[in-house]
Amino acid sequence: MHEYALVQAHVDALNERLAQEGSPALLRVHFRYGPTLMEAALRQAWEVATQGTALAEAQLALEPAIAPTRCDCGQVMRSEDVDFAAHLWLCPACERLHPIDEARDLQLIEAEVDG
Ligand SMILES: [Zn+2]
Repeated sequence: MHEYALVQAHVDALNERLAQEGSPALLRVHFRYGPTLMEAALRQAWEVATQGTALAEAQLALEPAIAPTRCDCGQVMRSEDVDFAAHLWLCPACERLHPIDEARDLQLIEAEVDG
């Protein structure tokens, strides 16, 4: 699953960073995720990826990315109008295309360490 690969990459980078900083305890990690990702899958992936690492006890905060939810013409985005593969949203009312840059991204916002 896509979520696992994304989470694993972040976990590896964080573990490396903590090791370089003298292994302080990681208290809280805050991510923003794109609309093609599922929160439940991300949480599950986080649990698996952090098991047995310095990140296992950290609190995970997930926040959905704010994708364009409304077209200039007033039409509201519906999930069935989103072309996730192309990262585009096609407005059914005016046929305007809206790119969704963050659609597949998992972005690290903040990593809070002890001390
Ligand atoms: Zn429109």
